Amino acid sequence: MTNGGGTWRSGWLRGLLRPGSTGRAAAIAVLVVAALLGSAYALGRSLIPDRPRQSATGVTGDPNSSRYADQPPIVPTETEQSDQDGDRSAPPSAGQDGSTSDANGDSLFGAHSTTGDKRVALTFDDGPDPQYTPQVLNALREFGVRATFCVVGEMAQSHPDLVRAIVADGHTLCNHSWNHDVTLGKRSPDVIRADLLRTNEAIRAAAPDAPIVWYRQPGGAWTYPVVSVANALGMTPLHWTVDPADWEAPGAARIAATVTSQIEPGSVVLMHDAGGNRQGTVEALWQLLPELTARFELEALPTDRT
Ligand SMILES: [Zn+2]
Repeated sequence: MTNGGGTWRSGWLRGLLRPGSTGRAAAIAVLVVAALLGSAYALGRSLIPDRPRQSATGVTGDPNSSRYADQPPIVPTETEQSDQDGDRSAPPSAGQDGSTSDANGDSLFGAHSTTGDKRVALTFDDGPDPQYTPQVLNALREFGVRATFCVVGEMAQSHPDLVRAIVADGHTLCNHSWNHDVTLGKRSPDVIRADLLRTNEAIRAAAPDAPIVWYRQPGGAWTYPVVSVANALGMTPLHWTVDPADWEAPGAARIAATVTSQIEPGSVVLMHDAGGNRQGTVEALWQLLPELTARFELEALPTDRT
């Protein structure tokens, strides 16, 4: 009999609707079942650890191992930041970074989040780092891929040889502030300007001829002043399209899966070669590069036009 289920459901519904003891009994049964289901759901939820919040995209967020908490700042201004930064709640207009989306990109204050053409750019933030930057460079070299490194001023000062190695391999540079101050955008234009200039000086001390035409605000916490100062100094604000949250060290497989599923022509991919344990990022690169080089034209962000 093919309609047995339907018959059963019909009778059950009639029982519910019909006044009288049968209906009440059925209603009570439904309530009990619902309560049991609710309990089971609550129990299941309680057994699942909360996923780390996709908050400050693009931040180096491992508080145990990261020197740079590219995550929401641990300063009083943190609460202010959430309502206007370009980071924890505002991926780029092409936003597919898994965090809550600000589709119109208003909080980017005009920062670029795509390459502007079909090419795809890999970007590596927070270095240079003596442990991981050379590994990233090796992987990129193996696949003939040029990328863009958003370097932190004091890291560049500490590791000028690595800045030179980056440039020597044909990669391009991006200013990522002096010491990764995610609240820099809230400071005065003079303070912002001094920070960015100091960073450029450290980079140029290492690689005098390397153009620095991009600026990425730590934490993606863009503000109008920081965008204005960067522009005034000849640097174009650079955000991102794809954020695999590698700073959370989710493992190479997840990093690679996020990138391969979200990347598209014009994407700017955010990864980190410093700021914590980046072995997962390095391993993800080796997994990703064969596919990405087959699917896209990977190129460093240009220094001759911004
Ligand atoms: Zn950063």
